[in-house]
This record gives sequence, C-alpha cells and structure tokens, in this order.
Amino acid sequence: MAGEPQADCLFCKIASGEVPATIVRETETTVAFRDINPQAPTHVLVIPRAHHPDAASLAAAEPQILADVLAETGRVAADEKVDATGYRVVFNTGSGAGQTVFHAHAHVLGGRGLNWPPG
Ligand code: 5GP
Repeated sequence: MAGEPQADCLFCKIASGEVPATIVRETETTVAFRDINPQAPTHVLVIPRAHHPDAASLAAAEPQILADVLAETGRVAADEKVDATGYRVVFNTGSGAGQTVFHAHAHVLGGRGLNWPPG
C-alpha cells in the first residue's frame, strides 16, 4: 500500500532507527538528517516517514506530508543559520537527474555559494 515501509528501503530504515543517521529534526511525519556525503557545509536530507519513491508520488498521494517536508526544510535552514545567506532545496527526481535513493527526500544545501544553473 502507498506509504507503507519498504523492507529494502534505506531511508525507511533511517526513519525507523534501524540504520543510524545524524538526525537534526524529527516530526510526526518527517525526519531530517545529515547527508553521509555532504556537498556543502550544510547538507541535510528531509524525508517523509511514509515511503513514496519520489516527490511527485508523494505530492499525488499525500500532499499534506509534502507540505510538512517543505516546512521542515525552512526550519532546518533556520537551525543551520543559512536562511539569511541563502540555501537551496532540491528534489532529484529520476536516475537521470541524479536520484539514487528512491524514497522521497529534499536536499537542503547551504553555507557556500551555489551556482545556477546546477550541474
Ligand atoms: P539522491 O542522489 O537520491 O538525490 O540523494 C540521496 C542522498 O543520500 C545522497 O546525497 C547520499 O549521499 C545520501 N545517502 C546515501 N546513503 C546514505 C546513508 O546511509 N546515510 C545518509 N545519512 N545519507 C546517505
């Protein structure tokens, strides 16, 4: 069923605590943790606890939870003190765009200059 934990999903395991991560924020519906391979001084991933393969699927199935994820990206940026200087929120969607973990997640990147367009 949509949203149910998947046994083979790394981010479901982080959400349940089965796989450790450096968690910076948690809510009833979301978990935020540091990326294991940071691309900026601040690089935090915000995930829904519910399993959906990407942001578009999450938006279609549980739009309020996508709103929760987005709200958390702003709180992470404030906690990390990158909100004043600027930060980027990215949902890589599909392998061609660099998605490697197929559980919806927002990257929050900040603490350095960020080029546009991204690579
Ligand atoms: P994607 O490439 O799917 O947009 O982003 C997946 C992100 O998950 C990557 O930035 C990668 O570094 C991160 N990642 C992969 N495995 C782990 C892990 O075990 N723990 C943490 N904290 N991050 C991970």
